[in-house]
Amino acid sequence: MRVGIIGGGQLGRMLAWAGLPLGMDFSFIDPSPGAPAGELGRLTVAPFEDRTAMFDFAQNVDVVTYEFENVSAPLLREVGAARPVMPSPEALEASQDRLSEKTLFHALGIPTTRYVALDREEELPGALEKTGLPAILKTRRLGYDGRGQVPIYEYSDAVTAFRTLASAPGGLIIEGRVVFEREISIVACRDRAGSVVFYPPGENVHQDGILRSSYTPFRDASLVHHAEDYARRILEHFDYIGVLAVEFFVENGALIANEMAPRVHNSGHWSIEACITSQFENHLRALIGLPLGSTELRREALMVNAVGHLPEAPAILALPDVHLHDYHKAPRPGRKVGHVTALAETREALEKLAPRLFEIVPFERHG
Ligand code: AMP
Repeated sequence: MRVGIIGGGQLGRMLAWAGLPLGMDFSFIDPSPGAPAGELGRLTVAPFEDRTAMFDFAQNVDVVTYEFENVSAPLLREVGAARPVMPSPEALEASQDRLSEKTLFHALGIPTTRYVALDREEELPGALEKTGLPAILKTRRLGYDGRGQVPIYEYSDAVTAFRTLASAPGGLIIEGRVVFEREISIVACRDRAGSVVFYPPGENVHQDGILRSSYTPFRDASLVHHAEDYARRILEHFDYIGVLAVEFFVENGALIANEMAPRVHNSGHWSIEACITSQFENHLRALIGLPLGSTELRREALMVNAVGHLPEAPAILALPDVHLHDYHKAPRPGRKVGHVTALAETREALEKLAPRLFEIVPFERHG
């Protein structure tokens, strides 16, 4: 099977890493000649908007998937007429715009924080009345890892925030700030026949809007049940094939959906070592019509992202059952360049190890 992946970043690299033992063959399209996945397959170097390159790329594979979200959904739909594109471009399109994403959640009965789309500065007072303070102003499109977001504590902040982000293409959204007890995410996978598997939800900590760490499993049975139910509604709505991640806040003991990602997700990276079948392998199995594998945990896990630059390998590898992933990316503040996964029999053992990991795994924030 020839799998074509749009995007050649670390997610593409880990997908190939999972699929090569199954005899799959990988092609990537990415604008960067040094894309981290390029070493594991054929790399077409072209901008994501290059229609001709995209069609040539698709023609040489059996199935197309994406690991990068800012691809034109209409172009993907066109490609879909030539080769199957999974997950569906409709799911990608909904996730690309925070307003359509939240509107979808609302339509599916999935709780969200209060939100209002915002186009003009004059709309600020009315918008803040709906969301309340504090709030967060976000770009509707192209925000990631905390970029394109400004917190608002009082009205005067809102005007400055609006002027900072006003030129963003695609408009703005203002959201009520959730005072959450914790953040969790669920990774689910649906196959061609409609069977769904769920990974145990992870409990995530963000720093400067960037995922820093994820513990699994998160053990509140009732919240896990709701997270699975909400993820299933999204999967069924799109007749979805592949991996989907949904991020939630837990506020007053209830789930509030923040966003979804129609792809393998950073908060599921521990599945490589911790689960019987990783999120990467299950995504590929779903795409090509193989049975989905068990998502059962072998051990408890803690994943820590290396942001800015990598930790020293000897310091990591001296620790038992701690695994280092180097994405082969140039170091840069604010950039995820690798991650570390620690496994243990108990959460307590991981919590004991955590301070050491946070000390040796760098977090170098962007300016
Ligand atoms: P996002 O880009 O929406 O995933 O936001 C990145 C991180 O910023 C989230 O994981 C939260 O930690 C924080 N955040 C985003 N939106 C909100 C919100 N409405 N209320 C509280 N925290 C938020």
